[in-house]
Amino acid sequence: MLVGQLDRAFRDGRAPHAYLVVGPPHIGKGTLATNIAQRVNCTSAEDAPCGSCTQCQRIASGSHADVQVISTAREEDGASRRQISISTIRELQHQTSLKPYEGSTRVYIFDGAEEMSTEAANALLKVLEEPPDQVLFLLLTSQEVAVLPTIRSRCHRIELHPLPIPAVAEELTSSGAAGPDQAEVLARLSRGCLGWALSAAREPSVMEHRSAQVERIARLSCATLEERFDYGGDLASRYSRDRQDAVGELEQWLRWWRDVLLMKEGSEEHVSNLDQMDALRQGAEQVTTQQVVKTITGIRDTIEALESNANPRLALESFMLALPAREKKRWQDR
Ligand SMILES: [Zn+2]
Repeated sequence: MLVGQLDRAFRDGRAPHAYLVVGPPHIGKGTLATNIAQRVNCTSAEDAPCGSCTQCQRIASGSHADVQVISTAREEDGASRRQISISTIRELQHQTSLKPYEGSTRVYIFDGAEEMSTEAANALLKVLEEPPDQVLFLLLTSQEVAVLPTIRSRCHRIELHPLPIPAVAEELTSSGAAGPDQAEVLARLSRGCLGWALSAAREPSVMEHRSAQVERIARLSCATLEERFDYGGDLASRYSRDRQDAVGELEQWLRWWRDVLLMKEGSEEHVSNLDQMDALRQGAEQVTTQQVVKTITGIRDTIEALESNANPRLALESFMLALPAREKKRWQDR
């Protein structure tokens, strides 16, 4: 339906100058942005984006001179920045006064449109108010409310939702990204985020990173209090270096404990960590349903506390303290 809407807009020549693409991390906002960039530059009259013309191919490989991705990660002069800066927008303003270099439309993809300094956002707003010809802006965000309302009002909004798990598996196999077994595991782990599933299928490092996280979580489920405290401190220092990575690990914790709950309820078929069934089953035997529910709430509270700038070490250590202690079996129960 979404693609149909876009098709009509582009065919009628009434496509907006700017889109705001909203959706959770890894849902496929980048893939959609690339698709739109190809669509407006593709040389095939019938089935744009054809995916095979020079324009489409150069965009897919990231080498097209008129398609630029702007994100905090790309600003590499000196220390890494948290925000897209005013100088980036000024440079963009200069470029948009020139004709496209190799395609028909310049496309600027803001990956993380919420991460913009106030000055930068205001400068971008001016550009959006008087959009230059042959320029398309694609603003991608997982935190819509953090984007300036005046900017949002200048954009056509597209919201991406998680797909049903079988649809993700189907897409993975039909695109040749994964075999049927791997597709099933990845689809469940993706929680419907096709973008994550595709990158996990293509880049082994994504799954390796996830395996390391899951291993830590499984190990800590039966660790001593001291080991848990060490982990809490370690995660806090990782948080100060790379917020996203540390919060990602907490989300992994959430997924793990949701799986433990599913095990306790006998709904094994919905478990997302399909490759950890034994460890989950064992974990479920050691705790009560009440403890699991309390832990899930605790993880959510911890993520929320970190987002409202709580002291990371304190927040993470008290989270570790609140994890269910491993029950020592009383002699009566043996
Ligand atoms: Zn093409």
